[in-house]
Amino acid sequence: MPDDCLFCRIIRGEIPAKLVAETPECVAFRDIDPQAPTHIVIVPRAHIPTLSDVKDPLIVGQMTRLATDLAKSEGVADSGFRVVVNTNAHGGQTVYHLHMHLLGGRRMGWPPG
Ligand code: 5GP
Ligand code: ZN
Repeated sequence: MPDDCLFCRIIRGEIPAKLVAETPECVAFRDIDPQAPTHIVIVPRAHIPTLSDVKDPLIVGQMTRLATDLAKSEGVADSGFRVVVNTNAHGGQTVYHLHMHLLGGRRMGWPPG
């Protein structure tokens, strides 16, 4: 786990975050700058920089299952939600530890900006 990775530091408890779920493989916490009434960031415990660096695709399934479980517990599953994995510069990625955004609680626009 890199010492200077923000999300590794949150996972280790070195930086406070509003945790919403923990599994053996993943941690979920509220985004510090929420873009929707529900905005949760889901990360693997393992440091994987981007979606393109995933070796075992099982982790993406585990992140997705946690996102859909949280959509239910947050009460946005039926109204609708969006999961987003920003990847590299043009994808809008700013933290280079793989993460899935779960956004819900309002109608999303399309196309994305
Ligand atoms: P990205 O732009 O890489 O897809 O998403 C990174 C996300 O991390 C952003 O939505 C940003 O608001 C969030 N973020 C950045 N720093 C922190 C922090 O210290 N704590 C929390 N909870 N979220 C953060
Ligand atoms: Zn990391």
